[in-house]
Amino acid sequence: MPADKSRTPFSRPRGHSRNAPYTFDGPPVDIILRTADLVDFPVHRTVLEVSCSHFQHKFNTGSLGEEGDVAVKAQSMRTPPVVPMPEDSKTVDALLRYIYPVDPPVIRTVDDAFAVLRAARKYGMTHAIKGTKTIVAELADKEPLRVYAFAAARQWEEEMRVAARAALAFPIMEMYADELEGMSGGAYFRLLDYHRRCAKAATNILSEDTWFQNIIADPTFNWEPAWTSCSNPKCEAVREDGRKDTRPAWFHYYLLGIYQALAARPRPQTAADPQLFQAAIMRAAECGECRAGAPTDLKQFNTLLVQQIDRAVSKVRAQRTNFHDITHYLPTTGWFGGEIGHGCRLAGKQERV
Ligand SMILES: [Zn+2]
Repeated sequence: MPADKSRTPFSRPRGHSRNAPYTFDGPPVDIILRTADLVDFPVHRTVLEVSCSHFQHKFNTGSLGEEGDVAVKAQSMRTPPVVPMPEDSKTVDALLRYIYPVDPPVIRTVDDAFAVLRAARKYGMTHAIKGTKTIVAELADKEPLRVYAFAAARQWEEEMRVAARAALAFPIMEMYADELEGMSGGAYFRLLDYHRRCAKAATNILSEDTWFQNIIADPTFNWEPAWTSCSNPKCEAVREDGRKDTRPAWFHYYLLGIYQALAARPRPQTAADPQLFQAAIMRAAECGECRAGAPTDLKQFNTLLVQQIDRAVSKVRAQRTNFHDITHYLPTTGWFGGEIGHGCRLAGKQERV
């Protein structure tokens, strides 16, 4: 096929360029960055040199303009050379805001954040990379599925990990984003797999028979909580299997509520939900024996429980799963055995996301 000589490494609109609505100048500028949408940013070579490893290398080796992607050409003796940039003005503006003493960029969308992060990495701009990563993490807290899909499309493992962790705050199985249409089945499976195994690790803290021993094994446990000494028959709980529970009903339902919440949103903060706490305290207040000590004791218990869940979830790593090794099972032991559906035990070659 004959080469299209009219094509350049990146497409540019025709016409004259215009100046950015503001400049990063001050002292006389010595270089102009011209963006793909033909906006000129007058800047200082020194600032670029100390902030961008890409430009530092280009300036030091005198290779600026050798590769076609950065062609430098002074229009006259009085005008600084122009460096065409493949990025648009919004992206370049954000990059420059990280290296000049001006307000930091306001980046509101996942698309923009990834465009800036990609450019920051390309030009080796440490401050811009750090700042944009923070923004990506904040966006992931709101739109984990979108951020995960964007990162997966670029095979950016760090951002995939950040988004996968943020997704623990959501019932991810019930969520949809348009970006899912373009995400590979494997990437989506690994996200769900991580979420599911975090849910298993978190709920196991409560479903295993040894859960309470784990709690009281904590060195800070040095009290006898209100619910261990209650003899009020009205406080008695009956389990799903008909057996009487050794703990008051209000405490049983408090744990059951946390268990169900963790199954959908498996992160430590879920167990600290103040609504679940308040509901338990209101129930405990109906018992004359539990009423006085419940608020303080439950608070202390909850702190230890959250720490346990944090430790358990933090140990979970994403895996690449061999489908032939999936074994389905139904939990049958523990307090909530059989109460919350089923899970998948996954085995296979371990790989961090
Ligand atoms: Zn009681």
